[in-house]
Amino acid sequence: MPRKEILDQIQKYTHPFRIASGKGFQLRDFDPGDTCGLNMEKGEAAELLQRGTRWLAEEQDMLYAQDRWSLLLVFQAMDAAGKDSTIKHVMSGVNPQGCQVSSFKQPSQEELAHDFMWRYVTRLPVRGQIGIFNRSYYEEVLVVRVHEEILKRQRLPPAFMGARIWDERLADIAHFEEYLTRQGVVILKFFLNLSRGEQKKRFMKRLDNPEKNWKFSVSDVQERRYWDDYMGSYAAAIAATASEHAPWYVVPADNKWFTRLVVAAAIVEAVEKLNLAYPKVSPEQKKELAAARAELAREA
Ligand code: ATP
Ligand code: MG
Repeated sequence: MPRKEILDQIQKYTHPFRIASGKGFQLRDFDPGDTCGLNMEKGEAAELLQRGTRWLAEEQDMLYAQDRWSLLLVFQAMDAAGKDSTIKHVMSGVNPQGCQVSSFKQPSQEELAHDFMWRYVTRLPVRGQIGIFNRSYYEEVLVVRVHEEILKRQRLPPAFMGARIWDERLADIAHFEEYLTRQGVVILKFFLNLSRGEQKKRFMKRLDNPEKNWKFSVSDVQERRYWDDYMGSYAAAIAATASEHAPWYVVPADNKWFTRLVVAAAIVEAVEKLNLAYPKVSPEQKKELAAARAELAREA
């Protein structure tokens, strides 16, 4: 199938979930069970995903060779939404040397002693590379917003802890992403949109299956109690930071195979837009290459 046709097909699975402006955004307009009418049994999805990951591998090779752009993929979600497995599947074909995954958990004392962006900045991808954030600076307006005691641990001067703190943080994040864009960092943000009912099912599976027990943490059920607060914080974060240069994708997450498909499609589409190509070799470089070849050929 020609590239153009594949791209058109890809857009069918990305456009319904792509948020490039926060205007009128409502989380409730997005169904976690949506599959765009695709049926996994038909094998169509698996084939599309395979094609997407192969394509991504080719594009990554050029990204690396060009050494101009970098790609930052941000993954945010409630527990058990499938962040880890999505990252594993979508990146399965890419060269590990051109890709770095950073997972952000509770901050250390050293991290708490800095401004909130500090620990994320140190993990940004260098040119030519793909950086994956498994949780990200968005936790600073999600878990920190939901739990006031976490904000207290950040030891901000009281003058900056007022009622406007969340709007201000969101504005700082939006500015930060604008800055990164102008530095050649292409940003894509994925919210894996899991329903509360499906989360319960997945937790139950982890509890009932001894081989999956390790995945379960008691705190997961505690966090679940704050579901509505989290959804409110997600909605506010997406509305305030969705932009053409750093869009959000509200990815249906109740069906893992569909989650992977949408994420892979979104990445392929974004990278494709960069029109990457292998660097051109100049006439002087060609001469040098010819000389090197001649030298090798002369060897006994
Ligand atoms: P998994 O459960 O699949 O291992 P995870 O990303 O949920 O992956 P955990 O170790 O369970 O990893 O949880 C990390 C926890 O750290 C999450 O509850 C998250 O909200 C919390 N966290 C992340 N960033 C911050 C932050 N800046 N301040 C406080 N807590 C944070
Ligand atoms: Mg967890």
